[in-house]
Amino acid sequence: MFAANLNMTNYNYTVSERFLRYVQIDTQSDPHSNTFPSTTKQKNLSNILAEELQKMGVTAVELDEYGYVYATIPSNITKKVPTICFCSHVDTAPDCSGTNVKPILHKNYQGQDIVLPDDTTQIISPLHYPYLKKHIGCDVITASGHTLLGADDKSGVAIIMDLAYYLLTHPTIPHGTIKLLFTPDEEIGHGTAKLSMQKLNADFGYTLDGGELGVIEDETFNADSAVLDVYGVSAHPGYAKDKMINALKIVGEILMALPKTLAPETTEGREGFIHPIRIEGLPEKATIEFILRDFTTAGLQQHAQKLHSLATTVIEKYPHTHFKLNIQEQYRNMKAILEKHPQIVALAEKACTQAGIEVYKQSIRGGTDGSRLSFMGLPCANIFTGMQAIHSKHEWVCVQDMQKAVDVLIKLVQLWAMQ
Ligand SMILES: [Zn+2]
Repeated sequence: MFAANLNMTNYNYTVSERFLRYVQIDTQSDPHSNTFPSTTKQKNLSNILAEELQKMGVTAVELDEYGYVYATIPSNITKKVPTICFCSHVDTAPDCSGTNVKPILHKNYQGQDIVLPDDTTQIISPLHYPYLKKHIGCDVITASGHTLLGADDKSGVAIIMDLAYYLLTHPTIPHGTIKLLFTPDEEIGHGTAKLSMQKLNADFGYTLDGGELGVIEDETFNADSAVLDVYGVSAHPGYAKDKMINALKIVGEILMALPKTLAPETTEGREGFIHPIRIEGLPEKATIEFILRDFTTAGLQQHAQKLHSLATTVIEKYPHTHFKLNIQEQYRNMKAILEKHPQIVALAEKACTQAGIEVYKQSIRGGTDGSRLSFMGLPCANIFTGMQAIHSKHEWVCVQDMQKAVDVLIKLVQLWAMQ
């Protein structure tokens, strides 16, 4: 159902075969771990990637102690052009089990509901996933019902691996120096924590961690965390009359006072939000943890001010109580960096067009390794892989979408070689 004229009709893509193998390796990360990587099992996949790259003939392949895989495909042109990095993450989300993933390939999908065999209450229906309707005649991969699939981000991993394989088996394709990077712990926000920018040594980058065919993302949220400590007055409950002021109840009041229109469950598109993610406490002291999100830093500041004024209003009603609000930066919108290097997005768009794909520019309502990498000195846009319904048992991906992403990368390296 997609235009097939890519001058690549004779290429036997390896992306789906790789994907089906990689998803069976449990690489779930753990937000409560104190180690790096947060789970050693992530290295089981990183090891395989390093070995496969070495076998292909990729040079300078290194799996370091933290679980990062660095690799280089040397330039095959004399002209000096920017070094481009392609990056994806090996871990899967803690939200849903990644143990014993059994991928199922539904060849020549015909538009029906897909009932997952290991839990038949799990049904992937085109009614809920309209994007599925665009894939009639395609090959769709799902999990079996008791786990996520891991398309986020093993589709990205498999696409980059297929790019490497293509370039090494087609040495006449001109390209500059290409760096490959596979990171652990992206899903728990630590994907770049132990990354060596010196070792990576690239000028610009692309993460392969986006959704629908043709999507290019150059913008993420600005993100802060906020911790609100509320101090009450404790007393023996039998003798607490006119003495006790229960911090748990104040915290409840603050939660009820949060603006209903500034919540994840009521916002979309370019709207930001204030989102409580955890509460903990005793009558004497209670704490709410929030995340604050907005596409502009001014909007983000407004959310913090709103939270502060709302807590003040509630607390003022109770004598002898007080609160502390601690705001911490998490990540920033990568658009601020990408605007200074417009060729990153422009060439990705051009590569899509050359591969016969319509481009959809989108903003990520979240962050990626790319937003951190951009601020660490590697300006990075995000490119589609086809992954859908991520972090859930309904997760699925279309083989042809992944192949199209490989096409885009092959076009993209050649476009950079002409810069
Ligand atoms: Zn991802």
